Amino acid sequence: MSAPVLELDGIDAGYGAFRALFGVTFSVPSGGVCALLGPNGAGKTTVARVASGLVRPTNGRLRLRGDDVTGQPAWKLARAGVAHAVEGRSVFASLTVEENLVLAFRRSLGRKGVDGALERAYASFPRLGERRSQEAGTLSGGEQRMLSLARVLADPPALLIADELSLGLAPVIVDEVYRTLQAIREAGSSLLIVEQHVHRALDLADVAVLLGKGSVRYAGPAAGIGDLTQELLAN
Ligand code: ATP
Repeated sequence: MSAPVLELDGIDAGYGAFRALFGVTFSVPSGGVCALLGPNGAGKTTVARVASGLVRPTNGRLRLRGDDVTGQPAWKLARAGVAHAVEGRSVFASLTVEENLVLAFRRSLGRKGVDGALERAYASFPRLGERRSQEAGTLSGGEQRMLSLARVLADPPALLIADELSLGLAPVIVDEVYRTLQAIREAGSSLLIVEQHVHRALDLADVAVLLGKGSVRYAGPAAGIGDLTQELLAN
């Protein structure tokens, strides 16, 4: 397997006096998909926030494509190619679907790239095409996540961190989210997926990390997680 895009090495992190992560060590293979699994409160979102620079580790090292980026702020990691997709956070509620897309495409592709990118986005997400004049804040939860992913797909990042993107969505929309994640991977991104739908995440993943109470219980091939998922589902 090629060199990892992201490495966490002995990461401790928390919120004030509360410690959420204890020596977390794992890596995301370049071009691969890592599923980050674990029961509620295990620390998955905290790992995602450390990986995108939103939470600063108190101990350990974070490396991006081999470079030590420990303690760098989120905007620097974003510039280095880390995108963090979180439910509902990345759309501008009072702008229309099309205005949201144009803003993102102009920033990443320049004025000349906008028309082509819009066409591709509406081809991938016909539902967004139908709602191009609708304010993003009035889209359903699933449609808002599609809008965030449509922006990502136009300019695939080195690493996409997808935190619970399928939370609360109807199964048919979850299918669409997963098809899009697969397309983003095929476009060259590596993915770190935080997910409650264990089996869906494992279907897409090459490697899996199982967290329990802030510590890594398993880190290795997705296929090797075996019975540990039973323990996970029981929680
Ligand atoms: P879930 O699946 O329920 O979303 P998770 O595995 O993503 O959980 P985290 O959100 O990383 O877990 O939370 C890990 C621990 O850190 C929890 O005990 C949580 O209460 C705590 N925590 C998370 N965010 C904060 C915060 N901003 N301030 C204080 N404690 C926090």
